[in-house]
Amino acid sequence: MTLLQNTDKSSAIICVAVPVPLRQTFDFLAPQTGIQPQRGARIKVPFGSRTLIGIIVAVKQDSEYPIARLKTALEVLDTEAVFDEPLWSTLEWLARYYLAPIGEVLALAQPVLLRQGEALSPTSIKTWSLTDHGRSSAIEELNRAPLQLAIVKRFMRHTSLSPSDFKDESASWRQAISALVSKGWVEEYAAQPRLVVSRVEPAAELQLNPEQAAAAKSFVTAVAAREFACHLLHGVTGSGKTEVYFAAIQAALDQQQQTLLMVPEIGLTPQLIERVERRFQVPVVTMHSNLNDRERHLAWWHARTGEAKIIIGTRSAMFSPFANLGLIVVDEEHDNSFKQQDGVRYHARDMAIYRAKTHGIPIVLGSATPSLESYANALSGRYQLHTLGHRATSAELPKIQLVDLAHQPSNDGLSPAMLEAIKITLAAKKQVMLFLNRRGYAPVLFCSSCKQACKCHRCDSYLTLHRRAYKMRCHHCGYEGRIPELCGHCGAKELVDVGDGTQRVEDALALRFPEARLLRIDRDSTRRKGELAEMLELARAGEVDIIVGTQLITKGHDFPDIALVGVLEVDQSLYSTDFRATENLFQQLLQVAGRAGRREQVGQVLIQTRFTEHPIFETIRQHDFSAFAGQLLAEREAAGFPPFGYFALLRAESPHQAQALQFLRKAKQDLQPCAGVMVFDAIPAPMERRAGRYRAQLLITAEQRSGLNATLATWLDFLAHDTEAKKRANAVRWSLDIDPQDF
Ligand code: ADP
Ligand code: ZN
Repeated sequence: MTLLQNTDKSSAIICVAVPVPLRQTFDFLAPQTGIQPQRGARIKVPFGSRTLIGIIVAVKQDSEYPIARLKTALEVLDTEAVFDEPLWSTLEWLARYYLAPIGEVLALAQPVLLRQGEALSPTSIKTWSLTDHGRSSAIEELNRAPLQLAIVKRFMRHTSLSPSDFKDESASWRQAISALVSKGWVEEYAAQPRLVVSRVEPAAELQLNPEQAAAAKSFVTAVAAREFACHLLHGVTGSGKTEVYFAAIQAALDQQQQTLLMVPEIGLTPQLIERVERRFQVPVVTMHSNLNDRERHLAWWHARTGEAKIIIGTRSAMFSPFANLGLIVVDEEHDNSFKQQDGVRYHARDMAIYRAKTHGIPIVLGSATPSLESYANALSGRYQLHTLGHRATSAELPKIQLVDLAHQPSNDGLSPAMLEAIKITLAAKKQVMLFLNRRGYAPVLFCSSCKQACKCHRCDSYLTLHRRAYKMRCHHCGYEGRIPELCGHCGAKELVDVGDGTQRVEDALALRFPEARLLRIDRDSTRRKGELAEMLELARAGEVDIIVGTQLITKGHDFPDIALVGVLEVDQSLYSTDFRATENLFQQLLQVAGRAGRREQVGQVLIQTRFTEHPIFETIRQHDFSAFAGQLLAEREAAGFPPFGYFALLRAESPHQAQALQFLRKAKQDLQPCAGVMVFDAIPAPMERRAGRYRAQLLITAEQRSGLNATLATWLDFLAHDTEAKKRANAVRWSLDIDPQDF
């Protein structure tokens, strides 16, 4: 295509990334008035019948399109770029690597309020703080106004408060504040939200043990050197990895630099935030899905201005801009929740590594059970490996034993050996933690007359019986219905609940151990915001004796008093078809085992299984991660599986059974594999029907990542331009997953 010169020099042409699912940018004429367009600023543009806010990718003098047909953009919104340079490069890389539309990637990287066109800097908000009079008065004066008293007490921890600090409370706080203002205790003003340092009791630095000190020393040197390098900190559970991160964070602070500390799920880590705040008396912000739009914008702003020195966040924090980033730490780097499962399916850990490279700073990945990808990179020397082989306290690693269910059948999920161990532990006044990755009461309601089970009518799955809510629920599509009295197939009144969920185990424990304080932690018991954190705190504080829970309880927690960990059911995962199942099971078992015996006494772990001979148990009993990883890596290498080969999964779904499969079969014909790329046959998904839609998938594998990327990019371009192909694609819902976690 020939380039047409723009003859009218007064109006430049701007190339804009618009948030639409198309892998291209769009040219517009610059608006005649208003702010000068520059790369990285937001801009309002007419798009079809809509007005969209996009990001300026380039300002140029010519276009591939006839100038006369270009529309004029409406308004430039920013006088500066939204993203910092390294973030910008990272986002461009993300769009290339995941073959995602650049406009969608750039939109994903902005807080919602910015996407909606609000100013970059958060608007000033109503703020209150104590007056000198309020500070010097005796608070006993407020004894008869309990709400006012409570508010004044909050000012002892926070220098200022805003309406959002009261959002979970009843409306009467407004009157209490007004009363305090009229008494002259409190003053009100409009403030640019500032970050305040939480006033918590500072914690002393711990004396690092030699293993910790060695790792800390290399991190401190790396931070000071300001050079990209990827470090893998492999430390057994309780080895004190956090203390080593802290040494590195201190080094960044010493150089006036920010640290991004990434965690898999913020709901699970209030403990970490508290530890960070106690240790460093600097402004900390958190970024996670529980923030409202305004809070998110604020956190983003504080990271961008550099006012926040430590940013703790889940995967979305990876999109934050920074004024002077000096270090990235990814804790529990193996955790699957770093992978985004819809929209742009990025992996936040991989993105973090790229980002560290563009900033020219070190990154530390930490885990007791590293992902095979990271571990292989450490073995090959691409990452520097640091090992903490011992627990930091005097505690030994727990003793892991199997309970053979073939000889010791369980009742309500609990075998006689498990019950006995629980009894002994409780008698010794220690805590018990029981892990069962299945919420609800029973996973199946079965008719003993016609042998049929109660199924979800929208999915290929059984409905789970929930006794507490008195409902049948589908854990795949969210369907909820009444518990039937009669079999839906034959009408017999012989329905029996089969299998164990956390609720059934909880009931059984209440009967067996009526004196014990029980706490069930799963998604049903923690629906309210903040509830999970409260429950974990109860458990930590020793206010409960037995904790029963799903994977919510396995991750990274430091529960001081747990002496016994019981794993009630693993057999389903032992023989799964998913290629990552074994890796994930091993990680989960070692993580949950790691909750036991974190103080002086040696902890005990009991795993119930019908398959005691399965090889995974030998390495688990030895806590031998490297033997296990070595074995699994050898298998993966022989099969050409990741990290030795590269996978992409094309998924499609449709309300019509054949349509998704047909789309993928046609895709297989249209794909032109580069050398080393293999396209498998389109097959139905493991659960073919979900939420009323039929799902299918197509696996594409490659020896080289570049070949995989090129093959798919060519196909996507074809799909975007070929009328027939476009029509087929529009008839189904489809998505492309690079480095899929499971399939
Ligand atoms: P990890 O993250 O590796 O599981 P943590 O950092 O949570 O381990 O540490 C486990 C426990 O050991 C914590 O209670 C921590 O305070 C303690 N700890 C860590 N390092 C030391 C040390 N050098 N001396 C004494 N206690 C330590
Ligand atoms: Zn369903």
